[in-house]
Amino acid sequence: MAVLPIYFDNNATTPCDPRVLETMLPFFTKHYGNAASKHHNFGWSAEAAVDIAREQVATLIGATAKEIVFTSGATEAVNLAIKGVAEMYAVKGNHIITTTVEHSAVLDTCRYLEKKGIEVTYLPVDKNGQISLTDLQAAIKPTTILIATIYANNETGTIFPIKEIGAIAKQNSILFFTDATQAVGKLPVNVISDDIDLLALSAHKLYGPKGVGALYVRRKNPRVQIQAQMLGGGHENGWRSGTLNVPGIVGLGKACSLAANGLQTYPPQIQALRDKLEAGILAIPETYLNGDKLNRLSNVSNISFRYVAHQALLTGITKDIAVSSGSACASASGQPSHVLVAMGRGKQLAKSSIRFSLGIYTTDEEVAYVIKKITDVVTAIRAEGPLWQMGINNQLPDAEEWVI
Ligand SMILES: *Cc1c(COP(=O)(O)O)cnc(C)c1O
Repeated sequence: MAVLPIYFDNNATTPCDPRVLETMLPFFTKHYGNAASKHHNFGWSAEAAVDIAREQVATLIGATAKEIVFTSGATEAVNLAIKGVAEMYAVKGNHIITTTVEHSAVLDTCRYLEKKGIEVTYLPVDKNGQISLTDLQAAIKPTTILIATIYANNETGTIFPIKEIGAIAKQNSILFFTDATQAVGKLPVNVISDDIDLLALSAHKLYGPKGVGALYVRRKNPRVQIQAQMLGGGHENGWRSGTLNVPGIVGLGKACSLAANGLQTYPPQIQALRDKLEAGILAIPETYLNGDKLNRLSNVSNISFRYVAHQALLTGITKDIAVSSGSACASASGQPSHVLVAMGRGKQLAKSSIRFSLGIYTTDEEVAYVIKKITDVVTAIRAEGPLWQMGINNQLPDAEEWVI
């Protein structure tokens, strides 16, 4: 029997692996030095630990230690990458290409830059959430300085053709930044083979602590420069001032080394559970998978429940099952997910969607419980109100909002 509540929201955050926590603990109370203190052992041992972590992060993505800038998380890394490039390369051009399905960290940064005179192209996606490489090619201008795309979508799991995007950027001498927060630790990410110039990642999405992440900045072919956004003591090569979060960085490093070792074994097991969950839920009538069935993260299933009021759906399940509706950030606003709307889903259908994101601790019992619970709740909601009857009889005044 599954222990309740069940956590199926691993794309929002993951629990800290006990081995990660254990590695971090001495850096709070024993090795508490400031990694920037150059004149005593406290500082040196903190710096040595940071150096190891830098190596561990770099190894996981095929980078070198000097190319890693520690930040407070992926949001900060995204801000530093996009604003940093826009400011540093302003003489070269003022055009950025991104997509309509980015995380809000990217979208809000781009909207901010638009107010500062940067021109931004938002590439559309098809109904699977994929961009077209022809669209990407066509969007390139002589003034384009940056292509910024997500690696794997946090809401649907759709994986972009990163290698192809990287090649296009390289051919056109445009920098390529990818928000790989959901990909790192789940997919074999390699900045060399994929021609990635800048990459954001976050510890708490791969069983590390919250509040720490990193930005990869390429040093060779080409040597990428960024304008610092946080000014002060000149830490991190002058790119990110502020005393380093040593325990957090140690935890991020450990999480990366565990992920590097686990890559061969854990995705197939998670995918088997996800596929079972997905098959069970899609057996309910008028349910639709959101995302690219083939090119998708192995741990995510995003499903729309047609003619089911989203509030009733959430109320029915959230006591027992932790999931996201749309994205964790969007759900507070009550707006339909911008990702699902960009894929052409009607507004109501987009709202009545649930993202199930499994993790390394997910069990078979949990999957079985969730299938049964969702089936029971959806069946009960459809039997109670008029929505379902009106929907299937084509009598809904807002029928277009339920479009598939
Ligand atoms: C979680 C997430 C972020 C934000 O990461 P934080 O470390 O929480 O700031 C950015 N992009 C994607 C794709 C994410 O999933």
